[in-house]
Amino acid sequence: MKHTKVKALLSGSKVNTEVNAKGWVRTFRNNQFIALNDGSTIHNIQCVVDFENTPEETLKRITTSASVSVTGTLVESKGAGQKYEIQVSKLEILGDSDAETYPIQLRNKPSLEFLREKAHLRVRTNAFGAIMRVRSVLAHAVHTYFQEKGFVYVNTPVITGADAEGAGEMFQVTSLPLDNPPRTEDGNIDYKKDFFGKHTNLTVSGQLEGETFAMALGQIYTFGPTFRAENSNTSRHLAEFWMIEPEVAFNDLDDNMDLAEDFIQYVIKYTMDKCQDDLKFLEGRLLEEEKSKPQADRSEMALLEKLNFVLENNFKRVSYTEAIDILRDSTPNKKKKFQYIINEWGADLQSEHERYLVEKHFKCPVILFDYPANIKAFYMRLNEDGKTVRAMDILFPGIGEIVGGSQREERYDVLVEKMKALGIDEEELWWYLDTRRFGSAVHSGFGLGFERLVLFVTGMTNIRDVIPFPRTPQNAEF
Ligand code: ATP
Ligand code: MG
Ligand code: MG
Ligand code: MG
Repeated sequence: MKHTKVKALLSGSKVNTEVNAKGWVRTFRNNQFIALNDGSTIHNIQCVVDFENTPEETLKRITTSASVSVTGTLVESKGAGQKYEIQVSKLEILGDSDAETYPIQLRNKPSLEFLREKAHLRVRTNAFGAIMRVRSVLAHAVHTYFQEKGFVYVNTPVITGADAEGAGEMFQVTSLPLDNPPRTEDGNIDYKKDFFGKHTNLTVSGQLEGETFAMALGQIYTFGPTFRAENSNTSRHLAEFWMIEPEVAFNDLDDNMDLAEDFIQYVIKYTMDKCQDDLKFLEGRLLEEEKSKPQADRSEMALLEKLNFVLENNFKRVSYTEAIDILRDSTPNKKKKFQYIINEWGADLQSEHERYLVEKHFKCPVILFDYPANIKAFYMRLNEDGKTVRAMDILFPGIGEIVGGSQREERYDVLVEKMKALGIDEEELWWYLDTRRFGSAVHSGFGLGFERLVLFVTGMTNIRDVIPFPRTPQNAEF
């Protein structure tokens, strides 16, 4: 008999028929009730074992995380808590799980930190099962949104020769022997002898390559792994994360903001519709966690309320200059509200400032735009004032920056001048400059860190808990 997924069994369509389910034991109570989970839903199905006719030996082997196959009749349950249960007629232990040595003992309330060290097993817990299903649906929502709008999905290279941005954060890729690389006459490593005949890195962003495709296909998006050798340990940075980068020809910064806002609202709505049970579970988990905090630190909104708030309210659009005024006014007499006090126009905002604007001042998602040119990347469109660029960052409560984007500098001369001023090699980026030489046009795009979105939607607070196998400094065990 083919097995049926627990999710389908719980829909009741097979009630009063013989069914088979396969999965892992979550708990076994009173020598009689198995709570069985197979990953298809947050819910377990209760399997009632006929313990009088089951050998003692078999009953002993029904332990947490053992894999089992149960056959029996699906019936309406008389007990509270579940609508349907299986009256088991045949029970088979497929794989034993030693209760003493199974690493995740739920009665000890394992912490998230502990579970991170068991990334291969933590997915067997309710919370991580829910997070992984939500993550999967969110990824589907990303593709659905762009595909429905006619965007072309472009896979930009993972190994790149472009060394344009954030050189310090790049992972180098080489086939040369580390202990004894070939050297040039002046003693430098001879990358001409490397596999690609030049120095290469793992991608930190697909934007530059994406721009070239947008200038032919009109509207494209990338959604792929991105690597940054972030050497700080924060709860929002991974060394390997997934970035979504749409790029659209003929869009200016206002269009770019509209797209980002519409996109984020769409994927949240889509996920709320498809993941009701998982989100409800995660909300409950958070409410439990909140109880242990002092009143003042508790969040004002429960998870679903927070998600609905984002759907129902426009993001507040604020220029960098206005934001600086707000931050300055909020610290009269330089009171110790911030560790790093902003006095001057031109300073880069720290995450404490971003979070103040979002969480305390505006109390909603914020799009900051028109940043000083000298704190942003070379490719951003210079404004007519000559000192700000058409950049935008989207800031979210509890997270800070979730999106970074801009209208790109489409004017060849201005772009080249900017590159010269910053010492960026024009020859390295000849192909990028070609888009400005041949049929240049206004265009815009943004990068959204997928894990930051998953953080927001699941209500989790550490980015290590929303990706299957997190990559952070000193940590690539799995
Ligand atoms: P941050 O200021 O948080 O370091 P960034 O400004 O360096 O981010 P961008 O280069 O603007 O990041 O990249 C676009 C988006 O990618 C960010 O808004 C963020 O959502 C995400 N992102 C950037 N770095 C990381 C990382 N190390 N781990 C996870 N997501 C990241
Ligand atoms: Mg960064
Ligand atoms: Mg940033
Ligand atoms: Mg940014």
